[in-house]
Amino acid sequence: MFSALKGQTALVTGGSRGIGRSIALALAEYGVKVAVNYSGNEAAAQETVARIVELGSEGIALKGDVGNSQQADNLVKEVINTWGKIDILVNNAGITRDNLIMRMKEEDFDQVIETNLKGVFNCLKSATRPMMKQRYGRIINISSVIGVIGNAGQLNYSAAKAGIIGMTKSAARELSSRGITVNCIAPGCIDTEMTQQLSDEVRSEYEKGIPLARLGRPEDIAMAVVFLASEGAAYMTGQTLHVDGGMYM
Ligand code: NDP
Repeated sequence: MFSALKGQTALVTGGSRGIGRSIALALAEYGVKVAVNYSGNEAAAQETVARIVELGSEGIALKGDVGNSQQADNLVKEVINTWGKIDILVNNAGITRDNLIMRMKEEDFDQVIETNLKGVFNCLKSATRPMMKQRYGRIINISSVIGVIGNAGQLNYSAAKAGIIGMTKSAARELSSRGITVNCIAPGCIDTEMTQQLSDEVRSEYEKGIPLARLGRPEDIAMAVVFLASEGAAYMTGQTLHVDGGMYM
């Protein structure tokens, strides 16, 4: 089921740390060549690339802000310049700027929409042409359980993440006849730097609401990505996989 992944190429946005790093490494384990995108933390990106190489695959680090259409386009172009094709796009880059509605600044709303929602559109749009030409592509968008159930203090984030689910369905319908599948993963609360900012109290509150009674690991999400990129998921498109310990069911 996974052997066809060997020699394929992938762009993982926000692949330098957290869930994105885990996705990049999991794909590399199956022989995928991985471009690791990051926005500022070059050292983390280079470390991820070094680990990809240790796993016996090829990797490159690509700096670029996914919210900027020109920079997003350059990411896809770099992958094609390096390896001649792009088979897999994982739209993972994301940020939070949490606050209650009354205190949420316009720029906090705009920044989250620009990175988390427009960033997905920018990369998806840039990857569409080469994928259509080769009549093959796997696009996997990382949403969130918060885009499905909402959360106080995360209006901007939940709007972006819900938007990704809608975008996934429209893109899936538009691109299916060209051999391109578009799916989405909605992680629950995953143990990364993003959630390590939470206080112990908030983390234990979260855990109480998780039927499997623990935070998720980045690897839990990475394995779902490998599945959606594999031959085994050839008959799935427009779907959202909920990898959240049962938070949403
Ligand atoms: P981290 O904060 O640990 O990592 C974020 C990654 O995104 C980094 O690689 C960062 O690069 C990159 N990034 C940030 N902004 C941009 C940008 N404008 N352009 C390109 N890259 C950018 O996040 P997580 O690993 O926790 O989250 C990954 C994804 O999963 C996000 O979309 C998040 O919303 C989603 N998610 C996370 C959950 C969680 O509990 N952690 C739950 C549900 C969904 P750099 O290092 O250079 O800053």
